[in-house]
Amino acid sequence: MSRKPIIAGNWKMNKNHKNSVSFVEEVRGKIPSNDVVDAVIGAPALFLQAMKESAEGTELQLAAQNCYSENSGAFTGETSPEALSELGVDYVIIGHSERREYFHETDADINAKAKAIFANNMLPIICCGETLEQREAGETNDFVTGQVKAALEGLSNEQIEKLVIAYEPIWAIGTGKSSSAEDANETCGVVRSAIAEVATPEIAEKVRIQYGGSVKPGNIAEYMAQEHIDGALVGGASLEEDSFLALLEAVK
Ligand code: PGA
Repeated sequence: MSRKPIIAGNWKMNKNHKNSVSFVEEVRGKIPSNDVVDAVIGAPALFLQAMKESAEGTELQLAAQNCYSENSGAFTGETSPEALSELGVDYVIIGHSERREYFHETDADINAKAKAIFANNMLPIICCGETLEQREAGETNDFVTGQVKAALEGLSNEQIEKLVIAYEPIWAIGTGKSSSAEDANETCGVVRSAIAEVATPEIAEKVRIQYGGSVKPGNIAEYMAQEHIDGALVGGASLEEDSFLALLEAVK
């Protein structure tokens, strides 16, 4: 089964209007064809409109880093998935561990957001991953399986087939301490089995699963060589144009 690689940058709360647009100008013409790899940047919502305009005619796709589960209403400070879709945003990253930890997002919130994202013709990149304590206690597989099943509840097989799961062990995020490629592959295999239980084994074979956590141009090839890893969700190493392009070169 060949799954198209997907490399997604997660800029988190970094950059400004000017240097987010100059990033797009800098990578213009240097991104491999999206027949070969999906190249995505997850930028702060404030910069997405300008980046979208600047990315016109390029292979760069855009992601939001979060959205709300309703399109409109009395939800002060939230971002509407309908508004993101109107801007031409392709993906929305949901359930990042930073959102779960600092903003108390639950599995049920993430499931509701996934449904809202599909309803607005975008695709969710659903994050999951265990803490160091959970890994050391041998709880990783059960925990990650639970996160994935909860996030996918009530989605159709057609929707599940198109979404992306990002497996990010929390202890590997922003720490420089990446998971071994073998361990990451094993847990991505557990994610695939969870998808197979919710949908079917055939659907699970089609779902793209990213590894995330201290991925860099120098280590991405090890992950991409693994059976269950189809791409990466990349924080720090996606902020510089050269390093984002190097990640894409390494997988194309
Ligand atoms: P990192 O972040 O690549 O800087 O470890 C990954 C993420 O949080 O998605």
